[in-house]
Amino acid sequence: MTNTNPIGPKITPVGDLTWQALARCAAPDTDKRFFYPPEEGDPDYSEDINQIARATLNRYGKAKWFCARCPVVSDCLKYALDTDDTFGVWGNTTPGERRTIKVRRTVAARKEREAVSA
Ligand code: SF4
Repeated sequence: MTNTNPIGPKITPVGDLTWQALARCAAPDTDKRFFYPPEEGDPDYSEDINQIARATLNRYGKAKWFCARCPVVSDCLKYALDTDDTFGVWGNTTPGERRTIKVRRTVAARKEREAVSA
């Protein structure tokens, strides 16, 4: 697999990336804008931060609906967590959802370490 991100330009080549060949969003007709907040020049871009937030939530909802039918959603989520990708929707999760997953894993790991050492 080449260093090509099916859903955007930001990719860190980590691990086996062959799953990306099966990514639903890799189809050429996928509108990849929905996976990211609107940028200047996008039709739903605004200087108003509240409007940007609403547009972003709207986009993320569409992206998550799309991801829910992707055959490699687990691989994609693992990749995003492994690479600490904090931008856009990956593996049917928003950046905030991935932060929550990481915090929960950190807390669970700490509790496990404490239980072993007790
Ligand atoms: S889970 Fe979503 S972002 Fe990940 S490869 Fe599939 S469609 Fe793309």
